Amino acid sequence: GSQVVDRKVDSVCPFCGVGCLVTYNVRDEKIVSVDGRDGPANHGRLCVKGRFGFDYVHHDQRLTRPLVRKPGVPKDPAQTPDPANWREVFREATWDEALELAAGGLKRLRDTHGNKALAGFGSAKGSNEEAYLFQKLVRTGFGSNNVDHCTRLCHASSVAALLEGVGSGAVSNQVNDVGQAELILVIGSNPTGNHPVAATWMKNAAKRGTKIVLADPRVTDLGRHAWRVMQFKPDTDVAVLNALIHTIIEEGLADEAFVRERASNFEALRDNVRGYSPEAMAPICGVPAPLLREVAREFAKAKAAMILWGMGVSQHVHGTDNARCLIALASVSGQIGKPGSGLHPLRGQNNVQGASDAGLIPMMLPNYQRVDDARVRAWFEDFWGTPLDDKPGYTVVEIMDKVLAEEADPHKIRGMYVMGENPAMSDPDLHHAREALASLQHLVVQDIFMTETAWLADVVLPASAWPEKTGTVSNTDRMVQLGRRALDPPGDAKPDLWIIQQIAQRMDLDWRYEGEESGVAAVYEEMRQAMHAVIAGISWERLERESSVTYPCLSEDDPGQPIVFTDSFPTPDGRVKLVPADIIPAAERPDAEFPFVLITGRQLEHWHTGSMTRRAAVLDAIEPMATASMNGEDLRALGLAPGDVVTVRSRRGEVALHVRRDDGTPGGAVFIPFAYYEAAANLMTNPALDPFGKIPEFKYCAVQVLPG
Ligand code: SF4
Repeated sequence: GSQVVDRKVDSVCPFCGVGCLVTYNVRDEKIVSVDGRDGPANHGRLCVKGRFGFDYVHHDQRLTRPLVRKPGVPKDPAQTPDPANWREVFREATWDEALELAAGGLKRLRDTHGNKALAGFGSAKGSNEEAYLFQKLVRTGFGSNNVDHCTRLCHASSVAALLEGVGSGAVSNQVNDVGQAELILVIGSNPTGNHPVAATWMKNAAKRGTKIVLADPRVTDLGRHAWRVMQFKPDTDVAVLNALIHTIIEEGLADEAFVRERASNFEALRDNVRGYSPEAMAPICGVPAPLLREVAREFAKAKAAMILWGMGVSQHVHGTDNARCLIALASVSGQIGKPGSGLHPLRGQNNVQGASDAGLIPMMLPNYQRVDDARVRAWFEDFWGTPLDDKPGYTVVEIMDKVLAEEADPHKIRGMYVMGENPAMSDPDLHHAREALASLQHLVVQDIFMTETAWLADVVLPASAWPEKTGTVSNTDRMVQLGRRALDPPGDAKPDLWIIQQIAQRMDLDWRYEGEESGVAAVYEEMRQAMHAVIAGISWERLERESSVTYPCLSEDDPGQPIVFTDSFPTPDGRVKLVPADIIPAAERPDAEFPFVLITGRQLEHWHTGSMTRRAAVLDAIEPMATASMNGEDLRALGLAPGDVVTVRSRRGEVALHVRRDDGTPGGAVFIPFAYYEAAANLMTNPALDPFGKIPEFKYCAVQVLPG
């Protein structure tokens, strides 16, 4: 119904990478409802998270004062945090005291042990401006490239393959383009759960005749709208994709002109897939050979066919190989560089694209300029007025290992600054990650709640929720979108951009960003210069006017380029590089003792580590507790009924939770969302890494499922 409100403030949904534009309706300094705005990615639509997941902002567990660990209170990695009773562990402090302690501790470690002693985690939940300033702080203040964020757990492998293959890590075509496609291949992705408004475009397209092929070990809701479902065995992506490529090449369906003019290394790819016929792969991947051939033919013959993928592709030790196969599949078919075609790795978080673009990654400066390229470094050394480290830094999982390194290791990490990230829930093998966090000599955590990570901190800095600040985020479609401040932060909580600058100044950086909202426009304009041409046409004023602009955008009158690679690729030779891939098994296979496969992921109502959505009343009411999904036959074989409690245990950890019947989950597998601290799925996951993207294998490890 209609409500009387004091003001309406335009912003962006804080959850997934679809990037729906919203309006916050504010009454008495509280958000009372959220409306969908007519944004380019959502046309007024919102999913349940965007519409109802806002009251976390007003939750009584919001951090409102800086906190300092009480002397003598040990950091116990085994203890479950109690956000309501933090007073046993921390005392309140003034900002001055907390900032002195936070920055002073980091500075002391840097000055005593050198610039490898520190690391920083930013977050894909922060704005572009926060990401840019945070990586600049680590690079110029901490003195190393040890800066990363949850992209490492997300599409790092996809990006590794894309940079190698097509020269750019971003999507080639926007989600809405599915309406132009004759066929879309959705693989390793559950869009109805995780990109719900994007899924509505897919379903609308299907209604108008677009063929959806859903390829996934789990048959999710989109399967009901699919023309064909290829339910393949977990971990067999390369077998499936090479069989498709094999069919296209061997049946003479390849786009010869495209391959000749726009691709390189085709012969190596062709030779490699010779042994991957659908008939040879069917027993491995579980998809019947005629279905593989049918899908391959339709994909190649379609006037336009598009590939969209998610973490099911990326979170494997062979995640980069999986994405290489997708690039090859699109390329040999010529399905790239035109409307309704191309490659779309669906970005998970609202700003995982933008945070990576802004340089919040250890091997690259803003806009994917490599830290080990002397020319790039010279430009930034001049721009920032500071010498820079020429070695790529450590990645998320490697940083935890380096925290636990021997005392004598010159690269041992001793202090960390974590902004808006919750590695004590999101990292693989949580016992290890929590032990590492607890062992740090100095941990500064900046967040809006007492997260599992903040619980292990020395200093906790109370930050702003998304509706409490102004900034830009970049969605899965390469749209830079402006969020505006709707509220003031509660109590003494401060905007993250202000906090980063306070830490920087106390680490002797002479930063000045003048202007409203902690100088956000000045920070954006500096970032725009650092990113060179790609967002050159997106000024702050333009964002204030238009709210959303797609990049690449080269000048003020460039409307932005929704489709890229139309005539060449940003690779050294202008061609897409085809990279053959072979089957590499998961790092840990099921055996007699641990017979089930654990697959982790998200669910519609809950966001990542749950710190926001589990404090949103409607979302919590819909999904109040952790569940493990298994199919009916497995439940019967184990003598279980839906709702029974089970213990799921891997070699690294165990959780107890209720089982839910889901016949889309394949036999021999159990699916658990990672949002629940009381049954944290990542206690069990395997930290084995993809060698290229350094992404852990969240989608596959061996577990037992025991009644009770
Ligand atoms: Fe927010 Fe994503 Fe839902 Fe849109 S689809 S409302 S961006 S969570």
